[in-house]
Amino acid sequence: MNKEFRTDIAPCTVTDEDMLLINKLTVKELSKDEVYTFKVILCDNEIDRDCERFDIAALEKMAELFVGVTGIFDHNPGSGNQTARIFSAKCEIISGKTTSLGDPYTCVMAKAYMPRTAKNADLITEIDAGIKKEVSVSCQAEGFICSVCGEDMRHGHCNHVKGREYGGKLCHCILSDITDAYEWSFVVIPAQVNAGVVKGYKDTFTDTSDIIKSVRNGDCVKLTKEQSRILCDYIASLEARAEDGSLFRNTLADEIMKFALTAVPSLDEDCIRTMCADADTKQLIKLRDAFREKAAEVIPLSPQLKAKKETVKNHNNEYKF
Ligand SMILES: [Zn+2]
Repeated sequence: MNKEFRTDIAPCTVTDEDMLLINKLTVKELSKDEVYTFKVILCDNEIDRDCERFDIAALEKMAELFVGVTGIFDHNPGSGNQTARIFSAKCEIISGKTTSLGDPYTCVMAKAYMPRTAKNADLITEIDAGIKKEVSVSCQAEGFICSVCGEDMRHGHCNHVKGREYGGKLCHCILSDITDAYEWSFVVIPAQVNAGVVKGYKDTFTDTSDIIKSVRNGDCVKLTKEQSRILCDYIASLEARAEDGSLFRNTLADEIMKFALTAVPSLDEDCIRTMCADADTKQLIKLRDAFREKAAEVIPLSPQLKAKKETVKNHNNEYKF
């Protein structure tokens, strides 16, 4: 999944300790003068615009996994991509700041470096000037815990919907159990609020109900080819059932027309058609049964006809004597 996060990029003074960490990641040993470093918050424990938040263990895991990962500055298409690499990351509690839930605000504070080259000069000037960017992190989470019931929102028995309130509390998804950190990048802040927010659940959907549940939850989901095929098969099966339903309705409507005109000949055909079109299938069955009963009073149907024949037969027999 990708997570976008609006953040400040703050330049740092390079320390000896930083150089030790940086030189662990470089092929050729660099000197303090050759590198530029900055701090960036990669993610935090605040509920985001997708009504999701990371738990503390997830943040700690990401701090561990993002060290050494290269990020891209995709801010100026004309200048080609510039990259920076994270050389340290820590899960930090920012004192005095709390989240909307009242928890201590905790974030993954990363330090990244880039070589001071001519290509990076403009970007370094921009960071020094205090640019605000949207950082996008891409990671793999295995836990999607419901804040209301504690069940897994995709595989468990949870029927809560993210963004809705239950007992005055906002339902949100707690992302936990981070298994991988793929990449991070700086993106131009999108004009549309939700632009660029794409979550790929990779192969974590195991059946159709998971996919449907995620869609119902209002998630922006990205499916694999196989998942798309499963969903298409499901839609095709629903379409086939809908066709059966449609045929059944037509049969009911035909019966209603026949019985209604028999029971009440003054009824208008268009009127019956409109009535049938507006009714649901259960109502159609009730209408059919009601009109059939009425019609039977006018022209008795088979069981009564049989009885009548017998009566007639008996009646005739009476005349034989
Ligand atoms: Zn739930």
